[in-house]
Amino acid sequence: KLLVFVCCFSFAQKKTTEVNSQLFKLQIDSLMSLMTLEEKIGQTAMYSGGWDKTGPTISDHNRTYIREGNVGAMLNVYSAKATKNLQKIAVEETRLGIPLLFGYDVIHGHRTIFPINLGMAASWDLELIKQSARIAAEEASAEGIHWTFAPMVDIARDPRWGRISEGAGEDVYLGSQIAKAYVKGFQGDDLAANNTVLACAKHFAGYGAAQAGRDYHTVDIGTNELWNTYLPPFEATVNAGVATFMTAFNELNGIPASGNNFLFREVLRDTWDFKGFVVSDYTAINEMISHGFATNEKDAARLAMNAGIDMDMMGNVNKQYLKELITEEKVTKQTVDEACRKILETKFKLGLFDDPYRYSNATREKETIYKKEYLDAARKSAAAASVLLKNDNKTLPITPDKKIALLGPLAKDEESIIGNWAAAGDRTGKAVSIYEGLLEYVDKRNILYAKGCTIDSTEAGNFDQAIRIAKDADIILLAMGEHYHMSGEAASRTSIKLPGLQSEFIKKVAAEFPDKPIVLILMNGRPLDLSEEHLLVDAMLETWFPGTMGGAGIADILFGTYNPSAKLPVTFPRTIGQVPIYYNMKSTGRPITPSHPSEDYKSNYLDSPNTPLYTFGYGLSYTDFEYEVTANSTVLTPLSSIQVTAEITNTGDYDGEEIVQLYIHDKVRSTTPPVKELKGFQKVFIKKGESKKVIFTITTDDLKFYNQQLKQVAEPGEFEFFVGGNSELPYTHHFKLEEK
Ligand code: BGC
Repeated sequence: KLLVFVCCFSFAQKKTTEVNSQLFKLQIDSLMSLMTLEEKIGQTAMYSGGWDKTGPTISDHNRTYIREGNVGAMLNVYSAKATKNLQKIAVEETRLGIPLLFGYDVIHGHRTIFPINLGMAASWDLELIKQSARIAAEEASAEGIHWTFAPMVDIARDPRWGRISEGAGEDVYLGSQIAKAYVKGFQGDDLAANNTVLACAKHFAGYGAAQAGRDYHTVDIGTNELWNTYLPPFEATVNAGVATFMTAFNELNGIPASGNNFLFREVLRDTWDFKGFVVSDYTAINEMISHGFATNEKDAARLAMNAGIDMDMMGNVNKQYLKELITEEKVTKQTVDEACRKILETKFKLGLFDDPYRYSNATREKETIYKKEYLDAARKSAAAASVLLKNDNKTLPITPDKKIALLGPLAKDEESIIGNWAAAGDRTGKAVSIYEGLLEYVDKRNILYAKGCTIDSTEAGNFDQAIRIAKDADIILLAMGEHYHMSGEAASRTSIKLPGLQSEFIKKVAAEFPDKPIVLILMNGRPLDLSEEHLLVDAMLETWFPGTMGGAGIADILFGTYNPSAKLPVTFPRTIGQVPIYYNMKSTGRPITPSHPSEDYKSNYLDSPNTPLYTFGYGLSYTDFEYEVTANSTVLTPLSSIQVTAEITNTGDYDGEEIVQLYIHDKVRSTTPPVKELKGFQKVFIKKGESKKVIFTITTDDLKFYNQQLKQVAEPGEFEFFVGGNSELPYTHHFKLEEK
């Protein structure tokens, strides 16, 4: 009976969706039959509110423009009041009363700020990531926001690039899983609910591969890499039902993304069957002129519209030139109609034609933002995102009876702790600093604080005062890293060392106190070169920028309330000279292996090992895990599967979570394989002294890659694999994929 009910229910639901889309089509047809060409073009244009010290502002010019029917969407406007006021103009004062769409960068939280996305990725916790997006959507939607420009799903393997902070790191598999989790969290199950927001997969495509890690720079990616590494996370968002896509600023293989037919027509629409709409990045259409691809703005408008870019963010080119371009037959009316239709359809799906004010709700806004349960989730996330890089002699956790010297420029910081892309978050008092976090566990008299040095200048710190203060302490905590504006957009660095005099300060502290335990707590938006520091301190905790509840989450780890479980989603090099360095590289013809015949001419550096300082997937716990891995077969066929069982025992002194990772190596194939590829992971909680079984099922789908003909295939042959707690472990098992 239940089955019949479920079937009927889902059939009915499917029917409703079909009926709805038929209904929307009729409504859109009738609306569009009333629209002038100017009004249709207006729907394809988005403009930004301004900013002053108090937050987002709206100019008179914006208001007039809306009133004249020139605006389809606004960005950088939020608060129930501001969005409602503007919506009123669109609904009551324009000829057809078409509601506006409000978009905003809700990237890692809206008001309640979660760890930066690279940190959330380090949790490898898809449910937590989804929940963080859900909470962000709750807060943002209550303030009238319908649409977030997130997730950023660009694979990034260059720590010089400031926006590595905003993605899920270097790996295509982890990145794709996380991309889906964000989309599901933001969009929920029902776009028509007023607590969900449209997600936007960005930046299509290749933005993370900017040459030399310089933002907006040239991108040239070979076909093999493009299809196997950079495109799959975007495809994953389409499969998860993402509503919108954003173009990248960069050119890809000679064609700027914002005028790229191949990307937006051939791949996105024709191959992946994406049905939503595409927005340009901020003035990215106009920037095709500087790329040397468009002659002028009009030409840029033509290229973008014809490539399938439906909405122009801030470029004002659609508004100025589309009509002329249609008259000159350089753009068809039908192309503009299609763009307008997709945008209107999205507005219908959100229910804005039923009630244009359904998102902007001052009461809900008040009740929603910074809710206790949201802050708790942010606290848990801060702890779950923090990677324990080193912990010699069990320096951590600390007992609360210790006298602590808390030193460093980020010890009391409430500004950088929430990271970049957090403009709606409070940087002036809401965030919990490390100092405040410690106060929950220890008496104020037992925390000896001194800044010691600053972050981003060569300004001399007061080393001596800090050293004096630390003399009385049992343990020294150093809170250091980057200022938040050192990562994010247009924030590339050529050095990935700790900025300013921080390293000097660490050296001084280490030299003064050879017998005191020293813990380095890091906040930063990228992998850093810690090759000197890791030799000087006893323990290191990478907390990224941990968000509003950062200090509390960090304290939970320091005092052992939370046993660290995070693992690096990106490689930490020994030196900037190794970049790009990532775990799933290819083998050269001359790798460093003992069996290789060439003794001298190997693929290595004269002045550094090839290996990174900390590899992808690495992270310590306060406890230890032992693995016993078995597989039920050594033969795989297209119709069968191999079941891999990892029995994991917690052999240490604490309960804890382990992120269990499966890596597979295709030994020979028609395009050279990476030396290993993550193909599965699970996060499990295991009590001390207990064991748990984790099961992975390997099928041919896991072995597929895009071959020379760009077909997804799994090729018969030998494979090897291992299951473990980081990507650097040796292979322990093998199997053969047979044709039948
Ligand atoms: C960024 C986008 C962002 C947009 C709107 C651009 O500069 O590249 O990621 O969504 O601004 O703020």
